[in-house]
Amino acid sequence: MRVGEKTHHLLSDYLRALKKWKQDEEAIQSHKDRVIDEMKKEFEASKSRDYTSYDRDNKFWLSEHYYGENVDEKFEQAMKKVLHNLDVFLESEWNEKVQHYFKTAKSVYVENPREKDFEGMKLNLYSIPELKNVNVMAAPDFGVVISDNKYLIIDRKTGQEKMDTDTVSEQLKIYALKLLLKSHVDIQKVDIEAYEIYLPSLHQIGGKIEKADIDHIIKKLEEDVEFQKQYLVDGDIVKNQPLSLDNFPRTKSAKKCATCSFRKVCEDLKAFE
Ligand code: SF4
Repeated sequence: MRVGEKTHHLLSDYLRALKKWKQDEEAIQSHKDRVIDEMKKEFEASKSRDYTSYDRDNKFWLSEHYYGENVDEKFEQAMKKVLHNLDVFLESEWNEKVQHYFKTAKSVYVENPREKDFEGMKLNLYSIPELKNVNVMAAPDFGVVISDNKYLIIDRKTGQEKMDTDTVSEQLKIYALKLLLKSHVDIQKVDIEAYEIYLPSLHQIGGKIEKADIDHIIKKLEEDVEFQKQYLVDGDIVKNQPLSLDNFPRTKSAKKCATCSFRKVCEDLKAFE
């Protein structure tokens, strides 16, 4: 029901406005109203859509509507969850911290998910010979240059929590690598902390980025590129060889399939295998 995406928009709207001026209750309510209004309009458009034929100018929205489910009640819950996520953030120490950073940090970056900056998302990998022709895109939700050699990266999450790990995710390592490449600094000369913060639990995963993290993510990118290269005939991407079906086994989890957006096409495809 796009709770993650809408939470992302709402928090970004709030933080981007907060960067400019103090946000009182009325201002916060106007951010909430905007997102709820968008959700309602999109939900109605999705509900009234004819999914029996393909319309390239009017692609489908919610898979629940595509499958003919009545999700009116779930929609109410989805809206409440989005608003609750912002409320939890506002009550958290992170809200205090970001206000502090807006006043004291050298610079603060807040992503604008409503207008994606695809050029700005690219990593400048030119200085890594094995990766110089590779396009990797990444942008954290929130970044702070606290001082010349002290950085903080925050990414908000609303999906399933990785409670069983306290390691820094590969996504956070990519963000840190991007920062190092952009600033032309060595990881051993700077202090970068990066966290994934889950809403509404406020559970956080991450920590200080070490040289081993950066070495690991560069190696991982290089290995992935090497892996993909083996499917290029004569080094020509147009002659790319698709992997055989055996490489994409269906999950055996009926629970996953029950809510999978692709379950219809997945079932239809069985007739061609
Ligand atoms: S229905 Fe979805 S989750 Fe299940 S096997 Fe197909 S693609 Fe995978």
